[in-house]
Amino acid sequence: MSAPQILKEIFLGNHQFVQACGKEFFESHIEEQNPLITLVTCSDSRVQPSIFHDESINRIFVIRNIGNQIENNLGSVDYGVLHLKTPVLLILGHVNCGAIKTYLSGYEDEPQSVRSELDHLTIPLSKVDPSLPFEKKWLQGVELNLHWQVKIALERYQKQVKEGSLTIVGAIYDFANTYGRGYGRIIIANINGQTKREELLNHPALKEIEPSFREEIVL
Ligand SMILES: [Zn+2]
Repeated sequence: MSAPQILKEIFLGNHQFVQACGKEFFESHIEEQNPLITLVTCSDSRVQPSIFHDESINRIFVIRNIGNQIENNLGSVDYGVLHLKTPVLLILGHVNCGAIKTYLSGYEDEPQSVRSELDHLTIPLSKVDPSLPFEKKWLQGVELNLHWQVKIALERYQKQVKEGSLTIVGAIYDFANTYGRGYGRIIIANINGQTKREELLNHPALKEIEPSFREEIVL
């Protein structure tokens, strides 16, 4: 598609949105925002809030960068958690993440701006098993990065987690059915630092979810 075609799509799309919403919809959030979720996810265009909510306006405070990293947008994550006080901080990684692949493949030829963002992956990705075939290293890198981001968040927001006002969830969006749970499933790998499947299955944060469904969505 050419730029003029894309621009037409943007503004006709907005026009349809405006016509569908009506004044009352906007009046509900003109004065302030009240999101429920601070979402830290990858900029990858295959990952969007619409994978779990078709109405994300005033519900999801979104922070995105390559590799779903907290440290690269610390102020924005703080704003969601500490200022807007969302009850959930969802750190959402994904399979086939280009940031992880680029890091593992060697990123010294990338521009300085990209290198400095990928540099923050050094600690988690230094633990990737070098003996694995690349596809397995890649997936292990996605998981290690996710747990690392949850660890950073837990240290930073330990007061809120201890008080019970914040739940930190680390999950992976699996659009390739890598985990065999179905294409497009979001799989939970970490809640407040807990990573064992048995513990996650019985985690109080998941008590509203049917036990049989929990089996499908916990790593
Ligand atoms: Zn990614």
